[in-house]
Amino acid sequence: MRIALGEIVQETGTFTPSRMGRDAFEAYGLYQGAELLEKLPGVGPPGGFLKVASEQDEPIEVVPLARAWAGAGAKILDATYDELLEMLLAPLREAGELDAVFLSLHGAASIDRDDDLEGAVLEAVREVIGPEIPLACPLDHHANITARMVACADLLVGHETQPHDPLGTGVKTARLLFEWLGTGRKPAIGWRKIPMITPQDQFLTSAGPMKAWFDHARALEQREGVLDVSPYPMQPWLDVAEGGWAVVVHTDGDAELADTLAAEMGAMAWESREEFWKSERVEVSEAVRRAYRHGDGLLILSDTGDSVYGGAPGDSTWLLRELLAQAADQPDSDRLMLVPIVDPDAVDVAFAAGVGCEVTVSLGGKIDNQFSQPVETTARVMAVSEQHEADAGERGRVEIGRVVLLRAGPVHIVVMAAAGFAISHPMLYEHLGLEIGQARAVVVKTASNFQFFDDWRRELIRADTPGMTQSDLAAFDWTRVPRPIYPLDSEVVWNG
Ligand SMILES: [Zn+2]
Repeated sequence: MRIALGEIVQETGTFTPSRMGRDAFEAYGLYQGAELLEKLPGVGPPGGFLKVASEQDEPIEVVPLARAWAGAGAKILDATYDELLEMLLAPLREAGELDAVFLSLHGAASIDRDDDLEGAVLEAVREVIGPEIPLACPLDHHANITARMVACADLLVGHETQPHDPLGTGVKTARLLFEWLGTGRKPAIGWRKIPMITPQDQFLTSAGPMKAWFDHARALEQREGVLDVSPYPMQPWLDVAEGGWAVVVHTDGDAELADTLAAEMGAMAWESREEFWKSERVEVSEAVRRAYRHGDGLLILSDTGDSVYGGAPGDSTWLLRELLAQAADQPDSDRLMLVPIVDPDAVDVAFAAGVGCEVTVSLGGKIDNQFSQPVETTARVMAVSEQHEADAGERGRVEIGRVVLLRAGPVHIVVMAAAGFAISHPMLYEHLGLEIGQARAVVVKTASNFQFFDDWRRELIRADTPGMTQSDLAAFDWTRVPRPIYPLDSEVVWNG
């Protein structure tokens, strides 16, 4: 049996004004051909596929296409997308006879030319392989499901948990695919768009209304003939033509059952829509006051408006400015306040000055200059680092790039030349010789992926920072999402 394997994954924040090029994909490993088979075991959904493929009774020949993964960020440049797509399609055209295609996608990627990158990729792949070959896609559950995606793919399976479970989603999708190939029974698909968006505050699946919704999906999967129930609470910074939540249901050929359950899941989300707006956000100056008063253990200060994992640029200065301003009043300043920020110019200035020197730099507020402004500070250059490659476990190898550590009193600022996975991960500080255990607080540029700091975490504050991933969705200029949509419009009627 021959199955082609590929991946193009990026999550776009469409309000972020910059654009993402090929270098962002290269920082995570842009692989072609046999490289996929070397690098992807244990990594992401393709790793899940390779695991399940290796467990089959009959030998599976995996035909490797291309792998492009870049976390989250601004829209991908049209030209970069064209290159990535060709990297995927060229070997697919040469692949010869295939029994299936396993294609890992995010579901919320955009380019200027097209709102719906995954729909475009799936359409292009379908054009090459024809209508009959099974096309299985693991997706991020923050995807925006579009009509084109449903028309072109056979399986659209989302993560079961937030924090994400990419490997597990790959395993689940691959098992469904191999079951289909074994029995010859094509799964039926049912789906609904739900005209709503909500902020990230209730996005964890471990509590609250999101837990209830995802638990219900798992319960429905126990029913006879139900293969997969994937809820898609779309990430909320995606102003695109078919934007909104969705649910996709796969059954063992029973289209009516798939449709009924999709309607049921849609109704459940819709009826609890107000629950998804509950929030524990804390105003910025109060959050920082609490951070300086924090006792034992690590406090995580979530910079909710500048979530790099949600597509924000990572150069918001709201928390940094307040941490620097309040630092002067702190009698006990021996415990570190760790803050990451993206600013390539400041990195250059610090590199030029060298370790041990004092520099006066303007930090951040340059990419997102709508919600943030640069903050000027004088600080000592404590360390510099370049091209450090680190192991991010299930996410593979990541390059941290050019970074400098600046110290201004208790505030230890790690300035990065480019945003990346490390920005909300202990590796950023540890590779510069800092010990997380000695820190009082760490700013993370995420609103839900706190798990990497679990070993030290004592308390969490969600700071209500303005920015490209802020919770106040009404502050954005929405021009593309279908209207009416909850909560941007007051009277939205929807009956599933
Ligand atoms: Zn996600």
